[in-house]
Parts: sequence; structure tokens; C-alpha cells
Amino acid sequence: MRLETNTIQAGWDPKNGEPRVAPIVQSTTYAYDTAQNVADLFDLKAAGHMYSRISNPTCEVLEQKIALLEGGVAALATSAGQMASTIAIANLCSSGDHFIAAGSLYGGTVALFSNTFKKMGIEVSYVDAEAPLHVLKQAIRPNTKAIFAETIANPALDVLDFEKFAALAKEAGVPFVVDNTFATPFLCRPFEHGANIVTHSATKYLDGHAVAVGGLIVDKGDFDWTNGKFPQMTEPDPSYHGVVYTKNFGNLGYIVKARVQWIRDLGAYLSPMNAFLINLGMETLHVRMQRHCENAQALAEFLQNHPKVAWVNYPGLPSHKHHERLKCYCTGASGVLTFGVKGGQQEGEKVMNALKLARILVHVADLRTCVLHPASMTHRQLDEAALKAAGVSPDLIRVSVGLEHIEDIKADFEHALSQL
Ligand SMILES: *Cc1c(COP(=O)(O)O)cnc(C)c1O
Repeated sequence: MRLETNTIQAGWDPKNGEPRVAPIVQSTTYAYDTAQNVADLFDLKAAGHMYSRISNPTCEVLEQKIALLEGGVAALATSAGQMASTIAIANLCSSGDHFIAAGSLYGGTVALFSNTFKKMGIEVSYVDAEAPLHVLKQAIRPNTKAIFAETIANPALDVLDFEKFAALAKEAGVPFVVDNTFATPFLCRPFEHGANIVTHSATKYLDGHAVAVGGLIVDKGDFDWTNGKFPQMTEPDPSYHGVVYTKNFGNLGYIVKARVQWIRDLGAYLSPMNAFLINLGMETLHVRMQRHCENAQALAEFLQNHPKVAWVNYPGLPSHKHHERLKCYCTGASGVLTFGVKGGQQEGEKVMNALKLARILVHVADLRTCVLHPASMTHRQLDEAALKAAGVSPDLIRVSVGLEHIEDIKADFEHALSQL
């Protein structure tokens, strides 16, 4: 089936007389006939749901759908996108390990990598993603265990050079992890360009309606864990009666380990209600993404031609530094653009305050147009150097272009800019 069909139908195939729509299984637990049935679940000898901290049928629908859409073998739903990033890396790196990340990342990811992981003994090196491969290779250490980057960076809107980063990961002998939140599988399929693991903040376009926080991790299932760098995958896990993830679960091992170790221990699974809402949103992902791209393109062109606008950053504009790269890896530039007005941050604030349809809020990638000033909001905790690395200038206004009529969106910005 094609992507459009799978966004609607995948993950739930009702049997005779079952509900057409995947139901919300709002149950913490599951009943079994024998004690042996449950013992087998605990030993991971049998598949089945045991407790909704670890797996749940509604969440499973979402997991199967995203795995299919991304072209992976298995997926794991998490309580938030932050937890998807946390577990994706923690499943690879132990205390004393190191990983490499592209410099332009979502602010929350930078905070997680720079501060929280540091306290856990996991060290990150940020690299300039535009540096040539031979320079990037200098960041590789013997204890490097992962490479991490975003397809379309939030909010820098840099487009990832997949080929180069895949080569870097190959050189290091470690998985290439890609946060595909802004592109979604409808605009980019990272596994087709060398990624091994994909993460999502499902809170954004997958939900698309700003109603549920959630995250997803998908594994392509093609990484060779037996290269000596990942004993946690190839040696017995004492917390599970000596299970060896690669041996017992083959190419599902990475996701099984993430679930039965990290999700079990941290309790950071997605709730069934949120899985239902995110799945409901995903059913129209393909229709929405097309319109998000169209509206963002039109607004970017409008702003670019506006006399009071200093600059516009949108990868869909032919003048964008990564426009050709975008065409190579993505089928669209997604719905987020950034711009600055003449006169800088102070004038920009006036424009934000004068907008009516586009509200000021800490969100992105849903169907209502909204604006945010990263330097004073999402990226507030970053110092000047980190802001620069993240591609956030003081005057930068991020616009998440929604699905309202484009003429109404443009009129809102025209009116706000006329207040200057
Ligand atoms: C929002 C976001 C996250 C974090 O996701 P939450 O669901 O808010 O925890 C991670 N990566 C990117 C690119 C994001 O935009």
C-alpha cells in the first residue's frame, strides 16, 4: 500500500465484528488463564500485553503505523518527544560513552544532551553540520556510540546532509539517529538515506491538532550490533534472566531493549488516550502536510517581498542555502518558516503582538498558525554561543504556518507589519 493509504489504515485491521476504529484500551492490565502465561510474558518468551507501563494495544496501533510509514521493523511510543530522544540515545550510550550531534537542534534536545546526559556520564560533541566529512571525522572517539541530527532543524531550518552524516556514522561504526519531526515520513524517509534509527515528537505534525504530547522511536533493523561496540545488545542482560537482545530478538532487539529496559524502568510510555488522539491526527497527515507546505511557501514568498521584512528563512525558497539539498531528500519544506523584521527584535515584538489570527504560543506544527520568539522562549536557557549554533538570532520569529485560508494568514501578517 502507498503512504497515503497506510497513514489511514495501517496498524489496525478489525476482525469480524470488531470496531472499525482502533479503540482506546483504557486498561492498566490484561487477564490471562494461567500463571504460566504470565510467567512466559515476564521471560519475554511469549508476546502479549502485560501492563500498560510497557505496552498497550492502542499504543501498538500507533507503533505499527509509524514503523510502516518510516519503513522500519519496529517502533516504540513514548510519553513525549523528549523521551524518544532520551531513550534512543540512552539505549546506545552508557556512562562513559560519547556521541556526536549536529549543532542546529531543537532547544529541548540541546538542554537534554548538554546538561542531563552530562550528569549521566554521557558526553556529546556538537559539530558544524556544514563542515566537510574529513573534519567531522575528527570528532569520532573510541567511545563514540551514536550520530544524531534533525532532518529539518527546529528552528534553524537547516536541511540535513544525509549522505555525509551516514558516511560519518559508517566510519564510526555506530547508528545514525535522525529526528524526523519536522519532515514527517510524508516529506522525508530517513531510512532511505542512510539513517538507522528515527525519532519523532508526535506532538507536532503527527498529532497535528495540538491535543496530545507524545514521542516515537523507529528502528530500521539493519544495524549490525555485533561489531563489538554494543555489548548491551550482544551480552546477557541480568535484568531479564540473561536475555541477549540480538540473539533472542534478531533485528527487533533495539526496540525490545528500549521497551523492556528503559520504558519498564522509567515508566515513560505513551498513554492510550494520547495514542488514540495522535493516531486520529495521523490519519490525515498526508493531506495536512501538503497544505502546510503550500501555505508556508506562499507566506514565505509574501514576507520575502514585503518592504518591512529584513530576511526570510524557508527551505522551500529557491534562495535558501539548502534548497537543492531539500529537493534531494524531501518532497516538501514543511510548514515552518522564520523571519526577521527591519529594526530587529524590538520591532519584531511589535509585529508579534499585533498579529491576531496567528497567536503567540509555545508550539509548532499544528493546524493553527502560531508564532514564537525562540531567543526569549524555547531557547531561553541557551547561552549566546549555543543560540548561534542552534541558528537562533535575537530577531528571529518562528512561524508555524497552519491550514487556515492563505489569504487570511497573509492579511494577518500584512496588518501586523503595517503597525510598524
Ligand atoms: C518538540 C520537539 C521535540 C520534543 O518533543 P516533545 O514532544 O515536546 O517532548 C524534539 N525534537 C523536535 C525537532 C521538536 O520540535
